[in-house]
Amino acid sequence: MTEKTPKLRAALDGVPTYKPGKPAAADGPVAYKLSSNENPYPPLPGVLETAIEAAGSLNRYPDMACTGLMLELAERFGVPVTHIATGTGSVGVAQQLIQSTAGPGDEVIYAWRSFEAYPIITQVSGATPVPVPLTDGDVHDLDAMLAAITDRTRLIFVCNPNNPTGTVVRRAELESFLDRVPADILVVLDEAYIEFIRDENVPNGIDLYRDRPNVCVLRTFSKAYGLAGLRVGFAIAHEPVAAALRKTAVPFGVTQLAQDAAVASLRSEDALRERVDALVGERARVVGALTAQGWTLPESQANFVWLPLGERSQDFAAACERAGVVVRPFPEGVRVTIGETEANDLFVQTAEAFRKEL
Ligand SMILES: *Cc1c(COP(=O)(O)O)cnc(C)c1O
Repeated sequence: MTEKTPKLRAALDGVPTYKPGKPAAADGPVAYKLSSNENPYPPLPGVLETAIEAAGSLNRYPDMACTGLMLELAERFGVPVTHIATGTGSVGVAQQLIQSTAGPGDEVIYAWRSFEAYPIITQVSGATPVPVPLTDGDVHDLDAMLAAITDRTRLIFVCNPNNPTGTVVRRAELESFLDRVPADILVVLDEAYIEFIRDENVPNGIDLYRDRPNVCVLRTFSKAYGLAGLRVGFAIAHEPVAAALRKTAVPFGVTQLAQDAAVASLRSEDALRERVDALVGERARVVGALTAQGWTLPESQANFVWLPLGERSQDFAAACERAGVVVRPFPEGVRVTIGETEANDLFVQTAEAFRKEL
């Protein structure tokens, strides 16, 4: 008798596994983790107290509708509360968006290299990933993405700024792109790093979604707000997209801790701005130092920088690790999060030594 095992969906064969940023080893020389685009600051003022208070009710289920958070977001962004949907991080919401639009035989377009969750959540749904290479300047090739649209296209991700290159698409080109995408294809503007943008020609997706029923904006509390560990993100989209997101949500997926902490974070706007400004200042300092060393890197509008090192990426990551910082190597280059000043210094020093040996 042959040994039987549970039948698993063939769609799962070949799904890449998500590689989280390597942790900083507790016992090794590595002291700083610059591999996951996390915020080096602790939760914003008042947030920890709020979360601790919420923890007193851990025997209760959370508010499934996330009422308080939804109302706060609606007010903060000037959108109807019916246009908001929350989820377990914006990755959770992105997965719901695919579940809501695409299955076997359907296609999902995204730039590549971009956020590594896109191919995973696309393939898990059974849909076909259609990655479109970035331009030589590591920017979204919107014309090529338009050309990749077929009758089977259901969803297009535009990651702005792009993870891992930090590059942006600007207002005129994005509007022209949106004007040309058929109205029955959902365009998801993934704005996980929007708070770090200082280029005034980059649009706010919320302005673009208002008169475009096929545009959805994805936001997260994980990066600028520093709540990566709590898993809460949200989408802003017209009905029926927002309604579909509520149907595909894991019931009670966003904990009360996460909901209350997110509300408290939204109410700590001044401290948020200060911290983001400090990180943007560190970004300028790091980019300035690297440029002075002779590196050419794409302009980053996010909380990380991208060194297009190609096949030397792994070597560079290893050198950083020996120096005490963990960074994130990809086949095309290395992504380094802007972190604590000392961590950024270690990275800049390692980059200088590495460059001299090239
Ligand atoms: C980090 C990141 C997210 C946010 O993920 P969460 O699930 O909200 O923690 C979403 N999109 C991109 C492009 C990211 O880099």
